[in-house]
Amino acid sequence: DALLPRVLVLLVISGLNAGAARSLASVQRCYLVYAITTLAPGLWRFSQYPEAGSWTLSLCLVTYALFLLNTAKLHGADLKKLYRLIFENEELVNTLSDAKRRAEAANQAKSEFLATMSHEIRTPMNGITGMLQLLEGSTLDLEQRQQVEVAGKSADTLLRLLNDILDLSKVESGKIELEAIDFSPTEVGEEVVALFSTRASAKALPIYFHPAPDLPPAVQGDPMRLRQVLLNLVGNAVKFTDHGRVDVIVETVRSEAGLALLRFRVRDTGIGMDAGTQAKLFIKFSQGDSSTTRRYGGSGLGLAISQSLVKRMGGEIRVQSELHKGTEFFFDLPLPLGSTNGTSESFANLPAGKPLRGRVLVVEDDWGNQRVIELLLRRLGLDVVLAGNGVEGMGLAMREPWSLVLMDVSMPGVDGHEATRRIRRFLAGQPLVIIALTANARDEDRAACLAAGMDDFLTKPVRQEQLRVCLEKWIGKTAIH
Ligand code: ADP
Repeated sequence: DALLPRVLVLLVISGLNAGAARSLASVQRCYLVYAITTLAPGLWRFSQYPEAGSWTLSLCLVTYALFLLNTAKLHGADLKKLYRLIFENEELVNTLSDAKRRAEAANQAKSEFLATMSHEIRTPMNGITGMLQLLEGSTLDLEQRQQVEVAGKSADTLLRLLNDILDLSKVESGKIELEAIDFSPTEVGEEVVALFSTRASAKALPIYFHPAPDLPPAVQGDPMRLRQVLLNLVGNAVKFTDHGRVDVIVETVRSEAGLALLRFRVRDTGIGMDAGTQAKLFIKFSQGDSSTTRRYGGSGLGLAISQSLVKRMGGEIRVQSELHKGTEFFFDLPLPLGSTNGTSESFANLPAGKPLRGRVLVVEDDWGNQRVIELLLRRLGLDVVLAGNGVEGMGLAMREPWSLVLMDVSMPGVDGHEATRRIRRFLAGQPLVIIALTANARDEDRAACLAAGMDDFLTKPVRQEQLRVCLEKWIGKTAIH
């Protein structure tokens, strides 16, 4: 009955209750029972004491109990909210990772579908474009010539669209891997201009290449992607220019500490663009006004792809243009300086149209493709021997001397990769140029061909001009073994 122990007991019971307010907050009924059973006897006992202050103590206890009950209630509500959030988050994470997995699978399926479709369409397209090119070269009356031209243009458009869609899907899925190899920027420029020289001269449009004298002989980067961008810009310049000229300029903006900043400019005196067209240039499927589209065709994908590629390489394509006056596209690329081994001779210096000399072995299983390639090669002045499968191709490549071997990849039995590996093993270091000629046009296909021991890579359908440029580059580089 002494005051001090009484207050101490009260303090201990209150402390226990305060602790329980947190730990029993999630089961509030239990807490209520707990509070009543522990506090009510004390309360009753205090209220019985005759001393002054007992009632005050009891009232304090009741207030304290109410306060604790409220705290437990609030804490319970917080706990409920917290658990709901945790569960919802977990559910969200599960749904998201499920969706991500599904999206990745769909993307993979899309890429595979595109690659397969591209291959399937390319193979017959090779027959179509090849035969049309041959038909173009034969004696035709005016009407037939026009028909062949229309068919050829449609085939070209279809093929470009196919390539663009394939590229776009790769750029969008971030699948484009950039190479870092030594190359000569001058050679890339020359090559692009050489590829367009026929088309430009058909329009009586002079096309000039101006490499600055201070260009580094070699830089490090991805020449194939750079060529692709330049091909697109020069292609547009030639397409949209009827009078005047097209200039391709490569110059050094800065060169220091092993790094060169190169500026590539493609300038034409063509139809030009208004501000509206310029503003949406790099947006997918966007083109100038509909009259431009009707007159010049195209899919509106080229610049969007080129811009993505240049951005991946550390630059940005910009444009200056005036309607009816002309257009200039330009971009700067930071490229580490590369080393030259001095053997790289610019093939564009070879006079275009000069007949080639040499014996070429063509390993190809498809009858239609055999005819096309044979005729294209003969037209270039080359002797051709055909092998209808990998085994026959290997035998011929090993037994006889060749200037070059054109190797199909997908063949029944021994495929192009395996045939190349076996030829390389047999030749044990003796030089023989083997070039893949395949409808599998993806980067990984190219890499697989090079890894198998091939020297270069051409995709079907092959254009006469591309074939000439590639063969001029390789024929004569190695003596016939
Ligand atoms: P397309 O395949 O239609 O040429 P691009 O993305 O390469 O697609 O070009 C988009 C549009 O930009 C073209 O339709 C044209 O209106 C405009 N354009 C591109 N290059 C030039 C140029 N050199 N001169 C005038 N207009 C151009």
